[in-house]
Amino acid sequence: MPDNPAIQGVREAFLAQFPAASSDQALKALHDAFLSRKSGQLTALMKTLSTLAPEERRDFGQAVNTLKTEIETAIDEKRAALEATRQPSGGVDVTLPGRTLPMGRIHPLMRVRRDVEDIFTHMGYEILEGPEVEDDFHNFEALNMPPDHPARDMQDTLYLDAPVAGGTWGAHRFEGGQRGTVPEAQVRAATLLRTHTSAMQIRYMKTFPPPVRIIVPGRVYRRDNLDRSHTPMFQQFEGLVVGEGITLADLKGTLEAMMRALFGEGVKVRLRPSFFPYTEPSAEVDVSCRACGGSGCGTCKQTGWLEILGSGMVHPAVFEAVGYDPDKYTGFAFGMGMERVAMLRYGVDDIRLFYENDLRFLEQFPV
Ligand SMILES: [Zn+2]
Repeated sequence: MPDNPAIQGVREAFLAQFPAASSDQALKALHDAFLSRKSGQLTALMKTLSTLAPEERRDFGQAVNTLKTEIETAIDEKRAALEATRQPSGGVDVTLPGRTLPMGRIHPLMRVRRDVEDIFTHMGYEILEGPEVEDDFHNFEALNMPPDHPARDMQDTLYLDAPVAGGTWGAHRFEGGQRGTVPEAQVRAATLLRTHTSAMQIRYMKTFPPPVRIIVPGRVYRRDNLDRSHTPMFQQFEGLVVGEGITLADLKGTLEAMMRALFGEGVKVRLRPSFFPYTEPSAEVDVSCRACGGSGCGTCKQTGWLEILGSGMVHPAVFEAVGYDPDKYTGFAFGMGMERVAMLRYGVDDIRLFYENDLRFLEQFPV
């Protein structure tokens, strides 16, 4: 049935005004004019309901409601379209340049560690770590340093169980104490923070038979005061090779290959006689000064050489402690400070800089 002329009149009035309503305010005004509960034209139509014959009321009410829905839908759709034109591409300006994220870097000590690990992996070595908390046997005794050995004085040890007041741990100096006043059994039972990665040599050799080719990177601890060349915690590399017929020449060749890989082809290496309880003979290893090329400067104290590591042929007493036959096997070992290598490589003159995490320092290293 055709719409009641009154309803059709309101529809036409709305359709006449709708196209020109192109702002939020105009749409709001249009909405109020037709749909407002108080004064809207549809409200006025509904009020005429009571004047109709009862049989006409139902159709009339439905027709008004249909028109109401039409008007609401039209207004809502246009409002949404207006909103969309205000947010091109979902509100993102795709022509803006991106934000630059700061680039992270590898810590210089980690760079040195990775490089050394690469060098020795290519030479067929195994890389392993060991416990930082050690016992007296692995850190000292099996490395040819029995409880009263004077060489224990070379490494100020951090013990985890408190020593007897005024006493001394074996040969280890202790405030106000005397050498040897703690019973040997107690010394042997001590737990400590390892003073060198050499402790892992013992653990490995006790577990596996020769041949041995290992590198042990890791943290070690000494009772040192913090200054520009000492930290109570630092990082070492231990190298150990054991087999039949291993000689000092193998040690020298290995060290030369490592130093060339770390510092460049032109670097020279020299061995100086030294002493460590667990190697015989023992040698300090120097590399030619990179700063002056060997002619002498402040960095190398005018000598042309820089001390870089300690090394030697494994002492037969160490082989005996782990159950290797010292008549059959020989081997070499070396221990090197990672900080020392990083300092020489990057020209850093204060070891504390590696542990302060100052971004101004760390940002100077290559990515
Ligand atoms: Zn120099």
